[in-house]
Amino acid sequence: MVSFLHFPTTSDAFSSLPFNIIKPEDKPAFHLLMEIIFLETGPRSARRQWQKAQLNNLLNHAKQRSKFWRERLEARKISASSFDKLPALTRTEVNQQIADEGSLLSAKDQIQLLSRATSGSTGEPVNFHATSANAIFNEVRAFAQYLIEDRDISLNRCRFHYDPRKPRFSFTDEKTFAGSLSRIFQTGKNAELHYFSLDFDRIITKLSSYKAHYIVCLPQFLEAMVSLKGASIFKQFDTRLVVTYGQATSPAVIEALAQSGIDHTSSYSCEEVGLIGSECRHHKGFFHVAESNVLVEAGDLAVEIDGRECRNLLVTGLHTYATPFIRYDVGDLGELKDRCPCGHEGTVITHLHGRVAATLKLPDGRRRPFFLAAQLLQEIVRYEDLRVRQISSDTVTVEIVAPVPEPDTAERLQTYLEGICGPQFTVMIKFCAQIDWGAASKKHLFLCQAP
Ligand SMILES: [Zn+2]
Repeated sequence: MVSFLHFPTTSDAFSSLPFNIIKPEDKPAFHLLMEIIFLETGPRSARRQWQKAQLNNLLNHAKQRSKFWRERLEARKISASSFDKLPALTRTEVNQQIADEGSLLSAKDQIQLLSRATSGSTGEPVNFHATSANAIFNEVRAFAQYLIEDRDISLNRCRFHYDPRKPRFSFTDEKTFAGSLSRIFQTGKNAELHYFSLDFDRIITKLSSYKAHYIVCLPQFLEAMVSLKGASIFKQFDTRLVVTYGQATSPAVIEALAQSGIDHTSSYSCEEVGLIGSECRHHKGFFHVAESNVLVEAGDLAVEIDGRECRNLLVTGLHTYATPFIRYDVGDLGELKDRCPCGHEGTVITHLHGRVAATLKLPDGRRRPFFLAAQLLQEIVRYEDLRVRQISSDTVTVEIVAPVPEPDTAERLQTYLEGICGPQFTVMIKFCAQIDWGAASKKHLFLCQAP
């Protein structure tokens, strides 16, 4: 039986007008929420039909408004039925389309246009166009996940943002995380914590008084916190669930959280299209694709990782009308399945290895996951900042900022990294005054930049 009994509503959630249940001003967001849940949890055949119609709309729009897309689609006579013949879209091609044509929506379309940018931390950045409709969809889709996963919405949420462009610590909180649905649903508080350097004592003081039941953060932040303060520190904040995004989280960190009784889940998304998939609550490593937002297909690039053949993932954002992302190669690897063992009937991504750039490329072209344990690194050497990069098929470099290096720092670091990279690799250690992270909004401890 469908029941909303355990999703608290505000005392003022309903309308006093005749023939109205929800207030007219709240209907658009509430309808969108219900439609998303209905579509994503309902019968697969109806969902596929809806996706095909949406895809047709997007292809027709792109053909009408863009020479780039007209040429790309008409040369191969692409329609929603022959969609798999369309080549994968690269970041370079997106940037070219944007440079030549700008947004495919304008003021005439009577929709607010927004400029968006990717962090560019693992490659070429993309400055693209979106609309207020995309922003509303993303906000409502994010809230829908709490209902789909049957989470307690009365708990507090805290989101962490690493932001090198604003080198300061800031913490703001508000009474709800329901956004445009806040007049209907009574949720816990929401906090946004921006940090530049990891001032853990300050973060811990803030979180201890706030009670961060749900924490949303990058894996790098989680790993640093667990390595320096131990996973049990989250008990001090009354944390129940940590949601990571952006990159795979080290299994050792997830295990450490589990031992402290704290649940972990991953959200798979990218700036260009928003949510792509959410990790199944019952089967770890299985990501239910957010099929109200995207289509996900396997590309032609096959990469063997840990003995399994993974493919590059191609994502189509069904609502990307300002800058279309159609069969867009997001740079991640995974396997696709038709259903999840939990019973969910829909596209599921497994063996998601995150960005290709987060794997180690072996000299024979195969790749393997590469988890650098910050905890172990801290135990091996004392440093202020550190970056590891694979720069060629057989060379890994380490940049380290250590103002007063201990005499055998380089030797210990070298031995550790040679051990985890394997004998095919030469490890080079370089001491420096600071690391140039560029404008990237994420600090990746490891990046593969081998051609
Ligand atoms: Zn599942």
